[in-house]
Amino acid sequence: MGLLCSFQNCYICGQIGATIYCCGRHCELSFHLPCAKQGRCVTQFITPYRAFCPTHSPEQAVEATPEPGTQCLICMEPVEDRKTFSTMVCPACKTAWFHRDCIQGQALHAGYFSIQCPLCRNRDAFRKDMLTMGIRIPYSHTR
Ligand SMILES: [Zn+2]
Ligand SMILES: [Zn+2]
Ligand SMILES: [Zn+2]
Ligand SMILES: [Zn+2]
Repeated sequence: MGLLCSFQNCYICGQIGATIYCCGRHCELSFHLPCAKQGRCVTQFITPYRAFCPTHSPEQAVEATPEPGTQCLICMEPVEDRKTFSTMVCPACKTAWFHRDCIQGQALHAGYFSIQCPLCRNRDAFRKDMLTMGIRIPYSHTR
């Protein structure tokens, strides 16, 4: 990723130099990393660093739908009425809903060893789901 000179057009902004390709079967969409979020593309920050266009993006396996009026546990703003690119749920308790941006902010702050569901404090299943969904969770240098 990134070393090959690319003349592919980014399907989100239309400019050339797109170096990220969707891993979906027979999918030829490519895009720039900075454009991914705007295009609702999932880019995974764990090996093998796969990326997906919206059509081929992974979905959270858990079956859950937010109650009407459900708020993000982190910013207290309403979430969407179902799981989406930007509305995510804890796979363990299925009652903690939050925005992608909000949990991404927490993940950067907490780091790999401290990231947990803000509600039930589950770590393993929670972290696995967040990584699959393209949340970047850095290895923290602080203890
Ligand atoms: Zn682009
Ligand atoms: Zn695709
Ligand atoms: Zn939020
Ligand atoms: Zn939870």
